Amino acid sequence: MTIFSKIINKEIPATIVYEDDLCLAFKDVNPQAPTHVLLIPKKEIESMAKVQSPEDEKLLGHMMVKASRIADQLGLAKDGYRLVINTNDHGGQTVYHLHIHILGGRQMSWPPG
Ligand code: 5GP
Repeated sequence: MTIFSKIINKEIPATIVYEDDLCLAFKDVNPQAPTHVLLIPKKEIESMAKVQSPEDEKLLGHMMVKASRIADQLGLAKDGYRLVINTNDHGGQTVYHLHIHILGGRQMSWPPG
């Protein structure tokens, strides 16, 4: 159980930008770009390293399509945006509930830090 479960259960506040039966998107509390939203599955999955089942395959497919739609709704589609999934220690993951960062509103650089 992480802080994201509390956001799913509405036990702590978040600015929600999208919700359905399978996933929830809300503004990152410490934004790294003019638009910074986190898209999370309602199912507790620790990280990408734990993704395996056919159910997860459907869930992540659903979330990637929703990420595209949410980015469009946030006005990011034309200029572009970045989706990031930090995974475990080397990936820089700090909250162990799988999440897709949707970042946009500025030029991104490569390689990432
Ligand atoms: P990670 O480093 O695991 O890829 O990303 C975790 C993200 O969750 C960070 O960008 C951090 O700012 C965000 N975050 C952590 N706690 C909270 C919270 O309580 N509310 C919101 N909205 N975002 C959070």
